[in-house]
Amino acid sequence: MKALLLSEYKQLEVKMDFPKPNVNPNDVLVQIRACGICGSDIHGYDGSSGRRIPPLVMGHEAAGVVADVGSNVKSFKPGDHVTFDSMVSCGECFFCRRGDINLCDSRMVLGVSCGEYRRHGAFAEYVSVPKHICYPLPEDLPFEHAALIEAVSVAVHAANRTPVVLGDTAVVVGSGMIGLLVVQAIRLAGCSQVIAVDLEDSKLEVARELGANVGLNAKNVDVAGEVRKLTGGRGADVVLEVVGATPTVQTAIECTRKGGSVCLVGNLAPTVEFPLQSIVTRELSVFGTCGSSGEYPACIDLLQSQAIRVEPLITAKGSLEEGPDWFARLYAGEPGAMKVIIDPTL
Ligand SMILES: [Zn+2]
Ligand SMILES: [Zn+2]
Repeated sequence: MKALLLSEYKQLEVKMDFPKPNVNPNDVLVQIRACGICGSDIHGYDGSSGRRIPPLVMGHEAAGVVADVGSNVKSFKPGDHVTFDSMVSCGECFFCRRGDINLCDSRMVLGVSCGEYRRHGAFAEYVSVPKHICYPLPEDLPFEHAALIEAVSVAVHAANRTPVVLGDTAVVVGSGMIGLLVVQAIRLAGCSQVIAVDLEDSKLEVARELGANVGLNAKNVDVAGEVRKLTGGRGADVVLEVVGATPTVQTAIECTRKGGSVCLVGNLAPTVEFPLQSIVTRELSVFGTCGSSGEYPACIDLLQSQAIRVEPLITAKGSLEEGPDWFARLYAGEPGAMKVIIDPTL
């Protein structure tokens, strides 16, 4: 089959004769129709994250059509439209059995090789995945929208982790791909005022188009001061941080009212400086959130009903052959680019 192989760091080639994956008894073989290039693929591409050790077929945000099923698979048949979790959970450990599949002790992410394992991903004509991570898609949901379900699920899980009361004010620090989905998810969760923060006006404009009431450019204004003005001098009830660096974490904490909650979604830096006394003396609740656990069916409904919109986030769609060029452009920081989708059938 055809596959986009990372043969060395920063070197991608289209292979015409990559081995088609095996279909084990519990597996579903999916013909990929859309696979998104993730920020983590870009960070892995040059070796800096250590999680894309070549040779590897990357790609974990995908959707397609069932091509074949293993002998134990009864719930899917060839021709069904499906998406799958980016993470293969074991289904048997303490955390999986509690339903916390994102915390699985032996989780493997598709399209990742990190020394402990190598699992080829979906920048290929076919990928084989266990049935328990597959979800049926409605036929009228475009594959390129379905390929964004993983990102949507991260935002929905973050909103589910954040204690919201109807009518709350939320601040979302960071209006990139995930931030723009968090803006939509936290509004659906019951926040009547959503304030988006970023350093780029163009992203704040998209945030407003997708439901933020206010966009604050941290380059031009004192974010915490502006948030207090919009909240009767108190600060926001909940703040979601979607960057993961010291200045943005500090902004998030400064924006939160006494007794409010901060949900940390971004994790760019391994450690950040934390204003301990501000958190302790103002009794803030701090939540971490990672991936998603069980939110895929809800996300499929939210996309189909357009309660969460993803089309403004899709920058371009290309073939496997166009993959190397898109990786190079995204790695170089292509201005205005958000999600690029690869369709191996093009
Ligand atoms: Zn991803
Ligand atoms: Zn597990």
